[in-house]
Amino acid sequence: MSKQMVCSCEDVTVEDIRHAVAKGFRDVESVKRFTGFGTGVCQGKSCLSAVAALLAREKAQKPEGLLPFTPRPPLYPTELSVLASLPVDESQPPVGGMFEETGVFPPVLRPEAPVPKKAKVVIIGGGILGLALAYNLSLRGEKDVVVLERGYLCAGASGRNGGGVRMQWGTSANIELAKRSIELMGRFARDMGINVWLRQGGYLFMAKTKAVAQRLERNAALHNKHGVPTRMLTVDEARDIVPGLTLKDAQAASFNPEDGVIFPWPFLWGYANACRKAGIAVETFTTVTGFEQSEGLVRKVKTDRGDIACDTVVVACGAWSPEVARLAGVQLPNEPHRHEILSTEPLKPFLGPLVSVLDSGLYFSQSMRGEIVGGMGDALEPAGLNMGSTLRFVSRFARALTEQLPNLGHVKVLRQWAGCYDVTPDNSPVLGRTPGLENMLQLSGFVGHGFMMAPAVSERMAEWMTSGTSDELFTRFNLRRFQEGKLEREDMIIG
Ligand SMILES: Cc1cc2nc3c(=O)[nH]c(=O)nc-3n(C[C@H](O)[C@H](O)[C@H](O)COP(=O)(O)OP(=O)(O)OC[C@H]3O[C@@H](n4cnc5c(N)ncnc54)[C@H](O)[C@@H]3O)c2cc1C
Repeated sequence: MSKQMVCSCEDVTVEDIRHAVAKGFRDVESVKRFTGFGTGVCQGKSCLSAVAALLAREKAQKPEGLLPFTPRPPLYPTELSVLASLPVDESQPPVGGMFEETGVFPPVLRPEAPVPKKAKVVIIGGGILGLALAYNLSLRGEKDVVVLERGYLCAGASGRNGGGVRMQWGTSANIELAKRSIELMGRFARDMGINVWLRQGGYLFMAKTKAVAQRLERNAALHNKHGVPTRMLTVDEARDIVPGLTLKDAQAASFNPEDGVIFPWPFLWGYANACRKAGIAVETFTTVTGFEQSEGLVRKVKTDRGDIACDTVVVACGAWSPEVARLAGVQLPNEPHRHEILSTEPLKPFLGPLVSVLDSGLYFSQSMRGEIVGGMGDALEPAGLNMGSTLRFVSRFARALTEQLPNLGHVKVLRQWAGCYDVTPDNSPVLGRTPGLENMLQLSGFVGHGFMMAPAVSERMAEWMTSGTSDELFTRFNLRRFQEGKLEREDMIIG
């Protein structure tokens, strides 16, 4: 029987869409992510309406809920060399670009049934951290848990990141957490029955200045103490690992072959499926609007689908954590900062490691589909919940990438998007109890590395919550440290 295609760019068939619906992916954004439709060369111009019609026929969604997915610039695939030639005013902060709302999900997508009236633990935020915590609670017998997510799974930073996982960190705490996370990631497919495409091709860091080179050297020695096989490389050794890399202006490079890249989306679906199998409610398109509090405790979590009485509430809202905590009168020191990222047309596999220039925050790797996926920090980016896309970013990124890999100049950018880093004053997370509101727990502030920390941190947090034993992670990274001036600065931040 011949295939009935809906998306010829990405080889997605009618059957694939039906399969997605059967798996519970019923809104257009989720179906796009699960099947890959609309992510190819045409970016949905020829398939979006066909998929919407099919979803209507399958009664997957109310007609008014069949909304187009967020369009991604550039409008047409555009060569990196063309983008690199555009003028950028580096003295001015980014302005304009294509706007993307950060938290507006049409009420029509909201389930009609009310949420459960009570739960022992309510986790706010269905990103990687909230879902991983719920899963780990279930492993320890705590299944009276509800996860509340305002949008579709993958709507936040967890669905927008570069998928990099590395043990090359500047603090012992992060090195150990990342080691444990990567160990758990290696077992994820077996444990969860879903492939997250962990590929350990290493991370190759470059330093352009003496100060950053010294940081790489100092941190490599720390990694070795923790059993992480990071080594400093000469320019020739780095070129053996990535042929064609210019290493322009590089003063030093470090490499750990055990670092790698994963594909983020299946990770969230894996945790969510496992939660649901354990009887945990994962409520998407459900927004937390406030809290009922008395005697220093949260009594109820208020949502746009009803209130939930609870013993414990966990704020795991990534970059939105400050605004959600504020609903309970709690001030977090976190600030959201936009980070932009892009993906090119697919190429034959040629790039083993994720490469990063630590000084500029440039990073790029090759996805399992062959695309070059990469981003770059912008020191002038103001704080704010902004997920818009700018020409300034693609131009700066294209210039920095082709400086290191000139052969990529002819490669076309297919799509760009953005997410928010959840930045704290010391680049370390906010974990554990909230002073003055003892049953509100914090699980946020993971800057640009929460994805890779989630498996290990959530395991520790679930153990701490269910066993009643102490764990230094939840005192070391507690909110109190900001008042007490006991900051835990992490200096291996990309971007
Ligand atoms: C461009 C980019 C690249 C990155 N690259 C990497 C990388 O390579 N490796 C890595 O480890 N990390 C990376 N990160 C960081 C990583 O993505 C985040 O640290 C991580 O995903 C944070 O997970 P989270 O669950 O805390 O937040 P999120 O995934 O943002 O989840 C929070 C959720 O809370 C929901 N929410 C908000 N308000 C409410 C409300 N009122 N009610 C209910 N729900 C609400 C949001 O919709 C959201 O889905 C990157 C981030 C970005 C933006």
